[in-house]
Amino acid sequence: MKYYSTNNHKHQVGLSEAVIKGLAPDNGLYMPERIPVLPNDLIEKMSEMSFREIGYAVIGALFSEDLTEKQIHELVDHTLSFDAPIVEVEEDVYSLELFHGPTLAFKDVGARFCSKLMSMLVEDKSKTLRVLVATSGDTGSAVANGFLGVPGVEVIILFPRGKVSKLQEKQFTTLGQNITALEVEGVFDDCQTLVKQAFLDRELNEKLMLTSANSINIARWIPQSLYYFYAFSRLPKMSKKVAFAVPSGNFGNIGAGILAQQMGLPIAQFVAATNVNKVVPEYLHGSPFKAMPSIPTVSNSMDVGNPSNFPRLLALYEGDEKRLRENVKGYFYTDEQTVEGIQAIQPKGYILDPHGAVGYLGLKDYMAENPGYVGVFLETAHPGKFRDVVEEALGEKLVLPERLAVFLQGEKQVIPMGKGFDEFKGFLEGLD
Ligand SMILES: *Cc1c(COP(=O)(O)O)cnc(C)c1O
Repeated sequence: MKYYSTNNHKHQVGLSEAVIKGLAPDNGLYMPERIPVLPNDLIEKMSEMSFREIGYAVIGALFSEDLTEKQIHELVDHTLSFDAPIVEVEEDVYSLELFHGPTLAFKDVGARFCSKLMSMLVEDKSKTLRVLVATSGDTGSAVANGFLGVPGVEVIILFPRGKVSKLQEKQFTTLGQNITALEVEGVFDDCQTLVKQAFLDRELNEKLMLTSANSINIARWIPQSLYYFYAFSRLPKMSKKVAFAVPSGNFGNIGAGILAQQMGLPIAQFVAATNVNKVVPEYLHGSPFKAMPSIPTVSNSMDVGNPSNFPRLLALYEGDEKRLRENVKGYFYTDEQTVEGIQAIQPKGYILDPHGAVGYLGLKDYMAENPGYVGVFLETAHPGKFRDVVEEALGEKLVLPERLAVFLQGEKQVIPMGKGFDEFKGFLEGLD
C-alpha cells in the first residue's frame, strides 16, 4: 500500500516511511491511496468473531501487502490486550467503553499499535529509534505505556513542570525501562518547540534516528477503526439505523470511524460532539473552516482550536464538502451542559466522564431530531481520570480502579531540563 500526502496526491511513500516520518515533508497527513472494502458476509460474521479476530481481518485488509500474517497477528494481539464493551445505558443508547486499557483512555489503542509497528519496521536496523513526545498530559501517558518495554525503541517525554495533573504525571514518570521523562522549566509550547528544533537539527539527525508518535501518525490513526467494527458487531440484530457519536478534539477518532464506514461497515450517521472549541461543528453547519485559539474546558483533552486531522476528513470525502456535512452532524456543549449531562444519566446508574458526556449529549440531541436510530457514543476515558469534575457533578466520591491507584504508588523519576535548545541537544547527544 502507498500512502499519499493530503497536500499533494502525487507525493506517495511506503508504509515504513509514512510511519517513521509521521508527517509528509509538505506538512500534509498521510492517507492510504486505496480503501479496501470488506465483503458483506464477513462483516455479518463479525458478531461471532472475537475482537482480535475482527482485528486480524480489518488490519489484514489494509496491511497485508506490507506485513506478514504473523506480524499482523502480533500487532493486533499486542494492541487489543483489553476489551471495549458496549453497555446499554438507556433504551437504544449504548456507551462504547474505550477506557479498559492501561492508561484508561482510548488513546491506548493507537499508541499500542504505533509502538509495535514502529518496532517491527526498525527491527533489522542496528540503530535505536528514539521517539520524542511533548505532552500536556494524556498523550504522554498513552505513548509511554504503549511503548513500555518495546524493543528497539526509546521514548523521551517532555512535559512542563507543574502544569500536568498529578495523576497524569505519575502515568509517565514512574515507568523506567525505555521511558525517560524530562521535566521542562517552561510551558507546553516550550516542550513542543524543543521537539521541533530537534527534528530540524541536521547534526542530531545524522547521529540519531528520531521520530514522533503524534496523533496524526497513520499508525495511531488507522487502528482506531477496529473498535467501530467490534461495537457494531455486538449490537443486537435489528432493523434500525445506527448512529455513532464521537467526542472530538483533533478529529482523529471520528475519522477512523468514517474509515470503517468506507471499508463497508454500515454506519448510517456520525455525530461530531465538541465542547466550546466548536470550529468543526460550525463548519458542519455551513460556515467556512476557521481555526481559533483554544479555550480551556472541563473536557480538556478536546480543547483544540485547530483540529489537526481535519484535512483527513476532507480527504475521506475527496473534498466533497456536501457529502461530509450530510454524513457528519456537529453539536457543541458548554461546561455547564457537560456537567448536566453527567448528572442526567446518574440516576440510571451510569457514570460518565466529561468527554463521554459531550458525546452522550450530541447523540441524544441527534436522536431527538431524527427518530428511528440506535445510537452508540464513545466513552473515551474513565471517569476516575477526571475525578474532580465528576465528583463535584455527582456529589459523591468515586472509587478509583486498581490500575489508576497503582500508578499513584510509583516513584517519580525525571531529568530536569531548561527550555534552551543547547541543553536538550546535549542530553540527546549523550544518549549514544
Ligand atoms: C484525545 C481525546 C479525545 C479527542 O480525540 P480526537 O481523536 O483528538 O478527536 C476525546 N476524549 C479523550 C478522553 C481524549 O483523551
